[in-house]
Amino acid sequence: MKPMELEKRYCPQNYRPLPVTLVRGEGAWVWDDGGRKYLDMMSAYSAVSHGHSHPRLVKVLQEQAAKLAIVSRAFHSDTLGPFLATLCARTGFEQALPMNTGAEAVETAIKAARRWGHQVKGIPEGEAEIVVARGNFHGRTTTIVGFSSEPEYRRGFGPFAPGFRAVPFGDARAMAAAVNERTCAVLVEPIQGESGIVVPPQGWLREVRQLCDERNALLVLDEIQSGLGRTGRWFAFEHERIRPDGLILGKALGGGLLPVSAFCADREVMDVFGPGSHGSTFGGNALAAAVGLEALKVLDEEKLVERSASGGAYMLERLRAMRSPALKEVRGRGLWVGVELDPARADARDVCERLAMLGVLTKETHDTVIRLAPPLVVNTTELDWALDRLQSVLDELAPRRTTRSTVAGNG
Ligand SMILES: *Cc1c(COP(=O)(O)O)cnc(C)c1O
Repeated sequence: MKPMELEKRYCPQNYRPLPVTLVRGEGAWVWDDGGRKYLDMMSAYSAVSHGHSHPRLVKVLQEQAAKLAIVSRAFHSDTLGPFLATLCARTGFEQALPMNTGAEAVETAIKAARRWGHQVKGIPEGEAEIVVARGNFHGRTTTIVGFSSEPEYRRGFGPFAPGFRAVPFGDARAMAAAVNERTCAVLVEPIQGESGIVVPPQGWLREVRQLCDERNALLVLDEIQSGLGRTGRWFAFEHERIRPDGLILGKALGGGLLPVSAFCADREVMDVFGPGSHGSTFGGNALAAAVGLEALKVLDEEKLVERSASGGAYMLERLRAMRSPALKEVRGRGLWVGVELDPARADARDVCERLAMLGVLTKETHDTVIRLAPPLVVNTTELDWALDRLQSVLDELAPRRTTRSTVAGNG
């Protein structure tokens, strides 16, 4: 049986992958088992911002793996301290608590915010509330899906943890009505990724920041997907010139090689954690720390954040100039763009399948949005190559009418 058939038989169908079997990756490109080459326009949901098998990262991974990988946090390692020091210098926070996956870092932030609410803000024990946004995506644990607004993420998985209140994303007035004396934190994505790369109105995040200051609530940003250069800045909150009280990172923090995540905050928040209060066997392991440190250095030294800004501007400009009746909206920041299709003319899954046949890999989100989020190392020739193929797929599905002026007396 071929690997794809084996996977279909032995792996539960909790995903619906495109029918390609990848065997190798390099930079922005991946190869399938038949030797066909594809441009990766989704970077594993931003986990591969550095590109596939980045040589510097692979070298550090191999050397560290051969030396020391896992000792658990029962002991110190010589790589965790340097990694966290660099992460704190980069994010501007005093401390960072290392985890593995994004969802674990979100859980860490939830625990920190609740304990801070009870111990520091003085909310009666067990009554702390976290205000979240509708359309959020923060991961797949039972607590997290409990405050999702996506029915398929929740159906049959309850009962869910209480203590969350959801308001419309980008709506400052609804947020103001929800944040009160029992609110320990507001937890949001600065740009909603899985929801379709939804950019909130200008100024919204500043208003939320101000509200949190006024009502003594923590502003915790989930930048697992938007962070580390994806939007053309190191962190998406920089676009609004604010600073959160807590920052959740993951995905690209592992350099495309390992799951590495962290919750970053100042001591006022982090001091709620004492020995025994929280942990993870693999979180902050020596191998992950070495790779995480190198991932931060590569972003910096190879100017990947700047490349995201310029490449993203180029991609947006080309997309906005694209003419197709199937195109409804193009939005995004940096190398992170959502292309909203007119559902009457094109189905996002179908477009992704057609793109794959032409050598461009990406994945729809919901039924109407194509995400374009290549590794930040992508160049404009490669972007042109992908966008030409997108144009041809759109032309195939919804032919462009030859435009002819129909206004009487127009010359
Ligand atoms: C991917 C993602 C998560 C979850 O990360 P995992 O590593 O899959 O657990 C959480 N928040 C956001 C914004 C994400 O994009």
